[in-house]
Amino acid sequence: MKYLAEFSDPALAKRLVDQIHATVTQPWAMMEVCGGQTHTIVRHGIDQLLPDGVEMIHGPGCPVCVTPLEIIDKALEIASQPGVIFCSFGDMLRVPGSGRDLFRIKSEGGDVRVVYSPLDALNLARENPDKQVVFFGIGFETTAPPNAMTVYQAKKLGIENFSLLVSHVRVPPAIEAIMQSPNCRVQAFLAAGHVCSVMGVEEYPELAEKYKVPIVVTGFEPLDILAGILRTVIQLEKGEHTLENAYRRAVRDEGNPAAKAMLADVFETTDRAWRGIGMIPQSGWRLSERYREYDAEYRFQVRDIKTEESTVCRSGEVLQGHIKPHECEAFGTLCTPRNPLGATMVSSEGACAAYYLYRRLQTPTPAPTAMGDNSLAGATSPSATSPAASQQTSADNKEVSSVG
Ligand code: SF4
Repeated sequence: MKYLAEFSDPALAKRLVDQIHATVTQPWAMMEVCGGQTHTIVRHGIDQLLPDGVEMIHGPGCPVCVTPLEIIDKALEIASQPGVIFCSFGDMLRVPGSGRDLFRIKSEGGDVRVVYSPLDALNLARENPDKQVVFFGIGFETTAPPNAMTVYQAKKLGIENFSLLVSHVRVPPAIEAIMQSPNCRVQAFLAAGHVCSVMGVEEYPELAEKYKVPIVVTGFEPLDILAGILRTVIQLEKGEHTLENAYRRAVRDEGNPAAKAMLADVFETTDRAWRGIGMIPQSGWRLSERYREYDAEYRFQVRDIKTEESTVCRSGEVLQGHIKPHECEAFGTLCTPRNPLGATMVSSEGACAAYYLYRRLQTPTPAPTAMGDNSLAGATSPSATSPAASQQTSADNKEVSSVG
């Protein structure tokens, strides 16, 4: 496919891998921020092509994974109320709350609907004036603008039976929280290209300087990731720590001014809890005072909810890069995409789902020596799996994509 195949070219990938090997003289640990980048890395075995000692730490940039349990439980409570049409993207339906998920609510008679855009939910509100229509607005700087636009439209059109359950989060405060963690091993970041395509890059030079870490804005295809890693290790080896934009085909320094203006109009920053990580100051958005009437939390008065996390799930450690998914005792046994215990196994961007999907079932995995052995050329991951495990994985994969 044009504009995608070019960015998976094995010969070019080998050149970049060779350059990375020629550059690196010592161990380094870098974090890819976004779950989409994690999936590319695991799917193509990119981490296994890197020099010994160069580690990719998987970051918290999966919107479904970091949506706090409290918000999930609020969604469940709102969705169970009569007269409510609760709309969401598909991957939120299997995310476990304290005791159930949105699928369970739907099976019990709740009107839970999968939509492909917040504007679909707004249309539903127009078509069902006797119902309250709620859209579950989660995600990073990428999904916030369309949600902001939808609330703006609702107000402009005078549609009063629409509201937004908001759990938007912002990347720069999360980078700050990761760097301030006492166990932090991260020495550099691959920043999320799609976030920067909206917000621009202006928040990052200060972070790079403050924490003395290179930050390289990176895309999502295999060559994007390898180019981002190469630029990062060049900086690390030279002792530099600046912001670089390695995704110029999508990211302008100033971002998208129209989207930023919409965000500034509809949202205001707020402290936000991240599932598995905890409260991060000023890391989220909520509806501003002007649009507060469209805030589902206020409309449905569900602000005092007691939550209960799984005692088994270690997704917080996964999200902070302290363990790899297959180091969780429940991985692939008690917890699979079909029966997820944590959000990182549900989401199409979750690290646990990526490890399960691409068969990283064992640890440690050997580092291959030639590109020809790797999935960039269409081969399989080197992790050993039984035929039964393979069949199970395939069935679970279908389920993941069917709700994604
Ligand atoms: S494998 Fe499952 S239980 Fe373990 S951290 Fe991941 S989501 Fe949680």
